[in-house]
Amino acid sequence: MRIAVLALQGAFIEHEQVLQRLGAETVEIRQLRDWQAGPYDALVLPGGESTVQMRLLRELGLLEPIRQAIAGGLPVLGTCAGMILLSNGYLGTMDIRVRRNAYGRQLGSFHTVGAVDGIGTDVPMTFIRAPYIEEVLSADCRAIAEVDGHIVAARQGHQIATAFHPELDDDTRLHQLLISLC
Ligand code: GLN
Repeated sequence: MRIAVLALQGAFIEHEQVLQRLGAETVEIRQLRDWQAGPYDALVLPGGESTVQMRLLRELGLLEPIRQAIAGGLPVLGTCAGMILLSNGYLGTMDIRVRRNAYGRQLGSFHTVGAVDGIGTDVPMTFIRAPYIEEVLSADCRAIAEVDGHIVAARQGHQIATAFHPELDDDTRLHQLLISLC
């Protein structure tokens, strides 16, 4: 199994480490030719800075091929900035509207545990200047986790988005879910 990890910017190495521990091969996508060396079985869009990532995706000619692959059924896990990339107004493959930096400056980073539908209870959740999902825009998409009344994870078929960073905690269930979709 070969999983592409977008490696333009942000926290991609931690995702690779988790996926490798689970027995998957990872390929860093830094340029168009890395993407063209596919196809891959799944894709991870890591956290970081969504504005920077969007600009680089456009400049490198990666935006449209990646969008089309996801729209065509490629399993994807987007975390934090990666969730923003999947949302309406960005790649737009997931029917979610997100609010960036939704927790303000003071509460920018925090840790909690919670339930994720289809995953289980006691899922560790590390938030770093995180977005949350303001609205799920279609019946194809559903909220799978909430913290303090805000949606922090969603699933739309082969697409999983989390506002938190599962790659930073010692719990591989979300990555296992991605692998199970391959
Ligand atoms: N604040 C970042 C953004 O808006 C996301 C932060 C993260 O990915 N940890 O893109």
